[in-house]
Amino acid sequence: MNEMSTRPWPAGDDDKFHEECGVFGVWNATDAAALAALGLHALQHRGQEAAGIVSLDEAGIFHSHKGQGLVGDNFGDAKVMASLRGRAALAHNRYATTGETALRNVQPLYADFAFGGFAVAHNGNLTNAHGLRRALVQRGCLFQSTTDSEVFIHLIAISLYSTVADRLIDALKQVQGAYSLVALHNGAMIGARDPLGVRPLVLGRLGGAPGEAEGGPGWVLASETCALDIVGAEFVRDVDPGEIVIVDDAGVRSIKPFGRQQSRFCVFEYIYFARPDSVVEGTPVYGTRKRIGAELARESGVPADVVVPVPDSGVPAAMGYAAEAGIPFELGIIRNHYVGRTFIEPTDQIRHLGVKLKHSANRPALEGKRVVLVDDSIVRGTTSRKIVEMVRAAGAREVHMRVSSPPTTHSCHYGIDTPERAKLMAAQHDLEGMARIIGVDSLAFISLDGLYRALGKPGRDMERPGFCDACFTGDYAIPLTDAMGNAADRQLSLLQVSQ
Ligand code: AMP
Repeated sequence: MNEMSTRPWPAGDDDKFHEECGVFGVWNATDAAALAALGLHALQHRGQEAAGIVSLDEAGIFHSHKGQGLVGDNFGDAKVMASLRGRAALAHNRYATTGETALRNVQPLYADFAFGGFAVAHNGNLTNAHGLRRALVQRGCLFQSTTDSEVFIHLIAISLYSTVADRLIDALKQVQGAYSLVALHNGAMIGARDPLGVRPLVLGRLGGAPGEAEGGPGWVLASETCALDIVGAEFVRDVDPGEIVIVDDAGVRSIKPFGRQQSRFCVFEYIYFARPDSVVEGTPVYGTRKRIGAELARESGVPADVVVPVPDSGVPAAMGYAAEAGIPFELGIIRNHYVGRTFIEPTDQIRHLGVKLKHSANRPALEGKRVVLVDDSIVRGTTSRKIVEMVRAAGAREVHMRVSSPPTTHSCHYGIDTPERAKLMAAQHDLEGMARIIGVDSLAFISLDGLYRALGKPGRDMERPGFCDACFTGDYAIPLTDAMGNAADRQLSLLQVSQ
């Protein structure tokens, strides 16, 4: 999901994509909406700006509740939950920095078609949505939101195919970009992943309380396995890249309308985004992060007294690093858990404050020590600079920064929130320059090959990498049609949006 908004963030950053999301769907379960709320809660790390649930009752009526803020802020009210009746539900967590935050953009999106109601929740970014939107608007489609995900609704509406699944396939064949989506209509729940499988989507099966099924099993589709765990669903499998799964009372059917392509799952899900207790694409995230840390220690070990993670995302990599290097692991930085991720702060100024609100130095673990600081990524360098300053102020003798991802040199166009290139520290400075700016004695990033080794490959296969690593390489596997398009095209669609 990406906003097609004229409001830039930060100022002048109109190339930036604002969305990361979590999706969840449940079919044939008692208290489907309550399960959806639990699923969203487990996926809260994928989106903290807004949350929505649409349920479908036995009479074929849809019920919806959406709101800005965290899941608990929106679905803690018994009356709200009671209103979300039915044995099927769809849910979405939205992560936005700022820009257009209107309720009309909060998903799941819903529309009434000739075939009945239809709701959809999307994680990912479409890269040709501006062009599609322009064409659709010219045909008379009336857009209700500024999110790119709404093109799915209109493409389905104008499709000449008769079944919902065929209409959806028709729509998917016209979009480019990354999408993991879950949709709901009167006859079925549908899950779909883009042909390269950039964003995750898993299928689970419900059995036993609390979602005990009547007349056949209950099914769950979710961005990550941590959302299956919370509702007691058994992991069945990942939805394959390019696969559409149709879940109805007859069970689960699979359609693969796209030709076979080598998948390009987002490597940043392993590095940072997915929850450490999730298993993505068959590989536990936690173990992968520890292996990346161990690889980092082998590649760029340095004499030190303590290994200190930048919590929380740097913790597993720091554990792997410490174990491999034989250096004590210490919690030298304490994180305040009641502050959101710094990226959700709307201005640079507030974001600077945000880092201080979020982290504080644990002096006894740092004073007089040679410290290896481990974080998962350096984006703008703001966090690292503040943390290093804090660690030095707490008396560290040396500070060596080790990063469990390669330098982030390119923006993500497929659903991870990254600033435009001009704001990426690694796009603007070499290693020495970065080390100087963040104020460390030494700085090292995991190599691209080292990252792939930690993922169980011999190194990065240049022809068939097997992962999307565009943020580190600029190798964009899906065309960036809108970004490459001419300004007039983009402008026209934006004008339509702002009317
Ligand atoms: P920066 O301060 O811009 O260098 O951001 C780096 C910090 O932000 C690291 O500690 C990461 O854990 C975290 N981070 C990296 N990517 C993202 C993202 N897409 N959204 C939120 N936080 C992120």
